Amino acid sequence: MHTPDSPFYTEDHQAFRDQLRRFVEKDISPFIEEWEAAGRVPRELHEKAANIGLLGLGYPQEQGGNGIDDPFFSIIAAEELARAGSGGLCIALLTHNIATPPIVHAGTDEQKAKFVAPVLAGEKITALAITEPEGGSDVANIRTTAKRDGDSYIVNGAKTFITSGMRADFITTAVRTGEPGLGGLSLLVIEADTLGLDRTSLNKMGWQCSDTATLYFDNCRVPIANRVGPENAGFLAIMRNFNHERLMLISTAYAFAQVCYDEALAYARERITFGRALIKNQVIRHKLVEMKMKIDAIKAQLEILSWRVWQGEAPIAELCMLKAFSTRSLEHIAGEAVQILGGAGYIRGAKVERIFRETKVLSIGGGANEVMIDLASRQMGY
Ligand SMILES: Cc1cc2nc3c(=O)[nH]c(=O)nc-3n(C[C@H](O)[C@H](O)[C@H](O)COP(=O)(O)OP(=O)(O)OC[C@H]3O[C@@H](n4cnc5c(N)ncnc54)[C@H](O)[C@@H]3O)c2cc1C
Repeated sequence: MHTPDSPFYTEDHQAFRDQLRRFVEKDISPFIEEWEAAGRVPRELHEKAANIGLLGLGYPQEQGGNGIDDPFFSIIAAEELARAGSGGLCIALLTHNIATPPIVHAGTDEQKAKFVAPVLAGEKITALAITEPEGGSDVANIRTTAKRDGDSYIVNGAKTFITSGMRADFITTAVRTGEPGLGGLSLLVIEADTLGLDRTSLNKMGWQCSDTATLYFDNCRVPIANRVGPENAGFLAIMRNFNHERLMLISTAYAFAQVCYDEALAYARERITFGRALIKNQVIRHKLVEMKMKIDAIKAQLEILSWRVWQGEAPIAELCMLKAFSTRSLEHIAGEAVQILGGAGYIRGAKVERIFRETKVLSIGGGANEVMIDLASRQMGY
């Protein structure tokens, strides 16, 4: 049965939301500062998240997923996780949502048993390694090579800015096995204990509790059995997940914008300046309405596009535009929230302070906004 305020959400969605809210309040929020300082989230959290069905959301039951194919649960997950006020937490805990889908779609049964099931159970951690020191936007120019040697590939090269790269047990890695361009790429799952794999940690502006790594491959021997899908079809396997990844980023930008708005509204109601509540000033009220206008528009389009992708459509131009619009809007909304909180918004520990530092990565990652807008223009035949 649908809830009264939306045609998309049912009582099952509400029950999932309630459960997640309790999880965030009990198992995440009290520890965020500690994890931000430590630069990583603990492995035990993955197991806890698996136990409440968060890691398996949308994955097939055969691999330990909940088998629910409904994108509105993912929107709820983004909303509830964002309430802890840390984008690093979301990306660290859910890195598998970019690393695992290629294996689910194109992997063998053995690969699914080895590289998917333990990840959805929260026992193993995974990462996706595409970006290289020479460039991330231009995927066609990937230089890391994998050359056949008997029943193995020998991998040489480097990857950088890899989320969960320090903690990952399995790294879904894009390598060049063939000709120049997108048609010469393959995906290999490289295991953490592979000889010749070295990793160094990167310090960042935001996403502090999400570890980020540069990975070096020096003559790494990787079994051919770890190749996901046919040789030189790696880009197709990556591309299949692009629309879901864009929806994920849009949901994240929307959810954090909502947290900024909630924090700013609460503060504006409480804070007294010049003898009256901040919100009594027209300029502050207008700032809040400007924020809300963007948030509501993004949410409406997010739900429509989620529904269309669920129906099997590929509204690429619309997804690219909304990815760029939502992340750019978050930059504005987080900035305004910090402004409304004044000095209190600039001090570590305030959610809006952290979210403000985390805005840029969403405009750069998952397809830089310039690249998204250009792709949208080409999709629309400009
Ligand atoms: C915290 C963090 C986590 C990340 N996690 C991962 C991960 O897990 N796995 C992974 O593979 N990658 C990851 N990335 C990498 C991310 O996907 C890349 O940063 C992104 O694709 C951009 O690549 P680049 O940084 O090499 O920038 P470049 O490709 O060098 O581009 C630099 C800038 O130039 C502009 N630009 C680029 N191309 C064009 C163009 N055609 N037209 C106009 N302007 C353009 C954009 O503004 C872009 O930001 C992560 C990055 C960060 C910061």
